[in-house]
Amino acid sequence: MEDQEAQTRRRQNAPLAMAPEEFRQAGHELVNQIADFLAGLEQKPVTTGEQPPAVRAALGNNSLPAEGSAASGILAEAAQLLFHHSLFNGHPRFWGYITSSATPIGALGDLLAAAVNPNVAAFALSPVATEIEQQTIRWIAEFINYPVSCGGLFVSGGNMANFVGFLAARKAKAAWDIRKDGLQSRNSRLLVYCSRNTHTWIQKAADLFGLGTDAIRWIEPNEEQQLDLSLLEQQIADDRAAGFTPFLVVGSAGTVGTGTVDSLSGIAGICRKNNLWFHVDGAYGAPAAGLPECAALFEGLAEVDSVALDPHKWFYSPLEAGCALVRDPKLLQEAFSFHPDYYNFDGTGDEPPVNYYDYGMQNSRGFRALKVWLGFKQAGRNGYIQMIRDDISLSQKLFSLIQATPELEAVSQNLSITTFRYVPQGMANHPDENYLNKLNEALLNHLQVAGEVFVSNAVISGKYCLRACIVNFRTQWQDLEALVAIAIREGRRLDAQLRQDSTNS
Ligand SMILES: *Cc1c(COP(=O)(O)O)cnc(C)c1O
Repeated sequence: MEDQEAQTRRRQNAPLAMAPEEFRQAGHELVNQIADFLAGLEQKPVTTGEQPPAVRAALGNNSLPAEGSAASGILAEAAQLLFHHSLFNGHPRFWGYITSSATPIGALGDLLAAAVNPNVAAFALSPVATEIEQQTIRWIAEFINYPVSCGGLFVSGGNMANFVGFLAARKAKAAWDIRKDGLQSRNSRLLVYCSRNTHTWIQKAADLFGLGTDAIRWIEPNEEQQLDLSLLEQQIADDRAAGFTPFLVVGSAGTVGTGTVDSLSGIAGICRKNNLWFHVDGAYGAPAAGLPECAALFEGLAEVDSVALDPHKWFYSPLEAGCALVRDPKLLQEAFSFHPDYYNFDGTGDEPPVNYYDYGMQNSRGFRALKVWLGFKQAGRNGYIQMIRDDISLSQKLFSLIQATPELEAVSQNLSITTFRYVPQGMANHPDENYLNKLNEALLNHLQVAGEVFVSNAVISGKYCLRACIVNFRTQWQDLEALVAIAIREGRRLDAQLRQDSTNS
């Protein structure tokens, strides 16, 4: 038999164990590399634009190593791979989709969270982490002027946060025990209402949670691109008359394409009258509700039944951090809780603890709240207001510059999203829409791999547009002036090339 000492030695040298000095050294080296990376970020291209084979070649095609290697070497290797083959959404010239520059303190927070590794499923497994999560939820509610008595939790992102609101609504508004009897037990179909501009999560939700995508009533937006209130009311009435069961209206507080905020107080009134759940998808825009100058735009938000928002967007947290808020915490719990007899999490004190497995889809949960909590403590409410305000005013200034620039057409500006397109000289008065769409798509495809700037696209009333969404505390005005100059330079070049191609063909 193996003697006890040999076994002890083996466990102390377990392949994944790190002696304190080794950890300290590897960690310090890594932090130094990250500090240099962040300091040099703006000198790098936004993306290498490499295609999959090139990235795969850099990674190497080795099979699983049979034997391990020393931590500091492989960490340095991983850092080099990431620093040289990534798209940097922390770059001052990244404005694609809705991905923010991530806070450096959030990166350190994730390291700390992983090191202590609380399982924020149950209070007993994560005492202080559970309390920090609750405090962060309250601070988010406070920031956007939503009742702090709400329930809520962190999830991986906006899709999941919206799913939480959807499921809370389904449970609360179905007149039968839907969690036990399921959807099949009733032949009156549950229906959800939203504008055409709603993010694609709604299709996933209708599909995944058994309603089917035909249960979505797409309401055409009005001229301001907002959910049209009279069409909404009419559709609900028609569906009721036809024997359907409307249960949920989804409003957008910042649509993903153009940043439009629906009339929240208008929709809230219709929901109240019809006894429907009102969920707001604020994944992108809800943080702007914390700015005094945006109060009118978000009027009605405090009344809604649930809100989804995404700290990894406009609270600048590193991925992943989504957050769902439900006005009545009881209704959140009722949508998700089960109490298996192998759980012993009720506590023995006077006040029952919060066990987050009872409030959402996950069981074991990481400590996502920490990086967000640290950001709030570092910047404070006023720091956040300043950063969000700067993003919005830079976006407005960009729109004005584009309006004043002959070869560019400014198309829309809401919150911190500006859309525009390149229109060759002489074409503004007789636009060939097909050609312009083709040209602007080519322009976008070029910009997304060239690495000078990064924008994404939106199709607005049939116009293929470039779209800059500024959720980036590193962006400065000269970065946006550069975007305008680059769009014109590349627009001209591609226009000449496309005309040449069509002459040759
Ligand atoms: C980003 C976004 C989502 C999805 O959020 P993820 O974090 O990507 O899951 C949903 N709705 C809107 C309005 C968004 O902007």
